[in-house]
Amino acid sequence: MDRWERKEIVLRTNAVGQAMTAPVFWCHGRNPRPLAYVQANVHGGELQGNAAILALFEQLEKEPPRGSLVLVPRVNPIAANQQIGDYVAGVYDLATGVNFNRGYINLTGPSRGSSACYVDVDAFAAVHRDATLSEIRDGFREALKAALGAVRDAAGPWGMEARLEFALAIQEVAIEADVVLDLHTGDRAPRYLYAPEGATAATRAFGIPFVLEVPPRFAGALDEACWVPWNDLAEAFRRLNRTDVRRFADGFTVELGSMNAFSMTQGVEDAKRIASALRYYGVLDGEPDDPAYRIVACSVNDYKSIYAPVSGLVDATVSPGTPVRKGDLIARMVDPTRCTLPPRVQDAVVEVRSPEDGVVLLFHAFSSIPRGLRLLSMMTNTRAL
Ligand SMILES: [Zn+2]
Repeated sequence: MDRWERKEIVLRTNAVGQAMTAPVFWCHGRNPRPLAYVQANVHGGELQGNAAILALFEQLEKEPPRGSLVLVPRVNPIAANQQIGDYVAGVYDLATGVNFNRGYINLTGPSRGSSACYVDVDAFAAVHRDATLSEIRDGFREALKAALGAVRDAAGPWGMEARLEFALAIQEVAIEADVVLDLHTGDRAPRYLYAPEGATAATRAFGIPFVLEVPPRFAGALDEACWVPWNDLAEAFRRLNRTDVRRFADGFTVELGSMNAFSMTQGVEDAKRIASALRYYGVLDGEPDDPAYRIVACSVNDYKSIYAPVSGLVDATVSPGTPVRKGDLIARMVDPTRCTLPPRVQDAVVEVRSPEDGVVLLFHAFSSIPRGLRLLSMMTNTRAL
């Protein structure tokens, strides 16, 4: 078999009947598994993952993998084309208003329009109580794939909603993988990672300085859609007092800096971080790198947003990724029209101070925002990972 294979998946068909596709690059290594799935740019303005995938192409040519990979750059042609003037409005689907990273199917939760689960983990565990680990792993993956097939079939006579068609096209490929990396960026942010709770060694292998740990709950994102079912399965076996069935798949959302930024030089560094994680998972040979610095983590439940207390122009007084103390000045909301006569600068400025100790991780991408919009998000209750 050739090392590389390329095919297209259809995400949507536009109003004049043209298929909007994304390229899926299969890299067949020495073994079909472990299999990694890596996609970039599902949010149309979050570009840097494409540079990382390009650098991975080059690396995989030099270093034939032990397992295999599926790489999907520019996975969302719909979002990438939602350009309004100069600005790519790529997070929300303009056709539905829904975040492109929230429509995936919860395969071990209630099915659409019914309280029954697509795949009942307790029933599966009961049937496979005495099965081998590989029978469990393969059988459960088949069950997840069958559930996705059933979703597609059920739509048949009724037609498929565009949002579901989009999610299925991606999920049908990603569900095969043992580790899923969804490459995003923040608004204005350093590199940070959404990681499954408890995946500490894998998380450290990325060497990304800030980590948000995600509990096993489903909110519609791709990483969750890929690892939460396997977590649910492990829990079901634990309820039967079988503790050797660990979570067999992981998923991460990798935030590679700020939206709209794109650098091939940085892409080489990003690919090194990703390759290190893939070594941890055995997709690539060798050992993961030791993180070069202290990694700061908190639960995603302790990742809190500050909403603009007044409308205005944002003067950030710390840069994204800065540790702060409660009471520190972190931004000024400025509006000269608040001045009366004689006009004084202090009348134009409303200070925003940190409500808690933590790390200011992300600022809104734009510098003119109304009251009530997310001004910034910060990690609280942080610890070293
Ligand atoms: Zn994103």
